[in-house]
Amino acid sequence: MTIKENLNSIQKIIDDTAKKFGRVGKDVHLVAVSKKQPVEALKAMLSCGHRLYGENRVQEAIEHWKELRPHYPDLKLHLIGPLQTNKIKEAVALFDVIETIDRPKLASALAHEMKKQDKNLPCFIQVNTGEEDQKAGVHPQALPEFLKFCQSEGLNIVGLMCIPPVAEPPALHFAFLQKLAKENGLKELSMGMSSDFEKAIPLGATYIRVGTALFGARD
Ligand SMILES: *Cc1c(COP(=O)(O)O)cnc(C)c1O
Repeated sequence: MTIKENLNSIQKIIDDTAKKFGRVGKDVHLVAVSKKQPVEALKAMLSCGHRLYGENRVQEAIEHWKELRPHYPDLKLHLIGPLQTNKIKEAVALFDVIETIDRPKLASALAHEMKKQDKNLPCFIQVNTGEEDQKAGVHPQALPEFLKFCQSEGLNIVGLMCIPPVAEPPALHFAFLQKLAKENGLKELSMGMSSDFEKAIPLGATYIRVGTALFGARD
């Protein structure tokens, strides 16, 4: 399958699934996860007209997009991986949305850097719905207080993001994230990847993050 065929088939699944559950396909935004893909693959996807991308490392994102970006003024880049505080300046300069806010120190430093760069990027709080030790994200019970903190720092928190534990049914975690967003008055939900995005759509995903199903296997 070519990248164009993959894109068309994923978009059709999004549209059909949304429709089946009383939603509109265009409310489910497809974040094409371009990490570890060659630049030719990015160019192929760009030539299909796709403009929304996700990267999980700041340095790689700079290498991928620094030269391409000026040619595509409508491009949007989401940071979907962990952000170290020493990369904040570059992240704020490059990304349009930060999906992985998960600790007070990061929230404060980001808010400070955004003011400096005169930006107020939309942000997501990453929630560790499975409470896994090795995984990033705030624990669900800490969310309300952390959200208040982020808002008091001036961050524009628009929604929640999660990566479910591999060994558990993802739908449980998607339903939980949907509930948390509702309870906390947040609109956007970033959830669902290549293997499970169809399950995230009925549960309210507004952003799905799809890599291998679009681009093929990574290096
Ligand atoms: C890599 C990655 C994805 C995409 O994973 P696929 O299984 O290739 O679709 C989605 N979200 C995050 C946070 C990732 O790191």
